[in-house]
Amino acid sequence: MLHPIESRQDVFRPRVAGSTVPAQRGPDTEDNPWHTGAACRRDEAGLFFAPSKEPTAARLAREEQAKRVCARCPVLLECREHALVLPEPYGVWGGLTAAERRVILARRRRHDQDLRIAG
Ligand code: SF4
Repeated sequence: MLHPIESRQDVFRPRVAGSTVPAQRGPDTEDNPWHTGAACRRDEAGLFFAPSKEPTAARLAREEQAKRVCARCPVLLECREHALVLPEPYGVWGGLTAAERRVILARRRRHDQDLRIAG
């Protein structure tokens, strides 16, 4: 089975492996999509997605490591919103785990529902 990050090359094109400098970013366009500025690299996919049957302590440590990469990423907000809107069901995106994204999405749904009731 393909790793999610590998199967989403249309969406996710991390910068050149080995480079330590994020790609220069201009406005988000079809020719210059947000993910061209990603701080993560394709060879780091194992950091962002859980292997099967990963023990909890290992998962927490791996997710913290992935979040440290995200924390220095210039496209964190774009990545986070992409993962929320799609929604991406697995992995760390935009500094959030899948469980953290589910909490945000549930809050957004409740907020939207409250607005509909009030409106
Ligand atoms: S926020 Fe994290 S997962 Fe998203 S592009 Fe940046 S480093 Fe990669």
